[in-house]
Amino acid sequence: MNDTMTSPAVLILLGPPGAGKGTQARKLETSFGLVQLSTGDLLRAAVAAGTDAGKAAKAVMEAGELVSDDIVLAILKDRMAEPDTARGVILDGFPRTPGQARALDDLMGAQGLKIGAAISMEVDDAAMVKRVSGRFTCANCGEGYHDEFKLPAKAATCDVCGGTEMKRRADDNAETVGARLTAYHEQTAPLIAYYAGRGVLQTVDGMGAIDAIAGDLGAIVAKVTT
Ligand code: AMP
Repeated sequence: MNDTMTSPAVLILLGPPGAGKGTQARKLETSFGLVQLSTGDLLRAAVAAGTDAGKAAKAVMEAGELVSDDIVLAILKDRMAEPDTARGVILDGFPRTPGQARALDDLMGAQGLKIGAAISMEVDDAAMVKRVSGRFTCANCGEGYHDEFKLPAKAATCDVCGGTEMKRRADDNAETVGARLTAYHEQTAPLIAYYAGRGVLQTVDGMGAIDAIAGDLGAIVAKVTT
């Protein structure tokens, strides 16, 4: 990140797959001028580009397991070095292990940055399988949709950009989501206590309507960015 007069906000969204981290991070980007930084998106881009990191990550991601901290940290550091992150970042899907959380502390310490808030999105596991297995996105702008909860107004046409190509993630299926939920509970959920101990934990109810959750998150982000 670049040096600025006021420190950029660093916000963390915590929650299992399907909690709505990506959807809400995109909304916060628009409302607060922050940059969404999704390690899942960065890894999928590395897989698509066929980089060494992408080749190593592909099978692990398809199995719903966590990619090694080394690979994820290298990808994250490269992205954090880009100038747009000076506006502040919303970390979506990172950190996911205690090792990643400590590495983030080191990285931020070295740059004189602090975590504004780590926000845990509280949801029911049972609902997550349904949420994840029905979701798809616009291939052009990334707007998210769902077979049951949020279809585009005109079939197969993006409400936001008019794009007509929709895509589904290879790991968004009922079998893989079970492994992803297990990985979350075993390796990521302990970070809730970690950030509570640092005095930066906030929680929101992630089971309501998208706009209601956005309102709750916005209130938290407004407090830590002003
Ligand atoms: P996501 O898009 O956040 O659901 O991530 C999709 C997949 O990418 C996960 O199931 C993991 O295999 C991998 N992944 C994303 N972020 C991380 C991370 N911080 N640490 C380890 N693996 C990750």
